[in-house]
Amino acid sequence: MKDLGYCPVCGSEGVTRERRLNGDDTCIKGHKYPSKDAISTREESILPVVRKRLEDLLRITSEGVILELLRQRRQEPEKWKNVPGFGRETNDNGKFK
Ligand SMILES: [Zn+2]
Repeated sequence: MKDLGYCPVCGSEGVTRERRLNGDDTCIKGHKYPSKDAISTREESILPVVRKRLEDLLRITSEGVILELLRQRRQEPEKWKNVPGFGRETNDNGKFK
């Protein structure tokens, strides 16, 4: 089987390549991407998977932190009243009303 590298979306093997200038590859899972974006080594094919995991982790962590701050504000509104964005209502330009 000819080596078409790996998918930049999921890291799976590329299975088809269009025979035209600026053509696309398709991976075994059906993602379509420019041939030039194919990942060349098996070692680096892990990158899209790691990137996705890290993005998920950061998103989950960020949401967790925001929810915790909102919970604290609910419990101790006095402590938060002077914190921009967490206390008094602000206008669209960030100024207190
Ligand atoms: Zn893919």
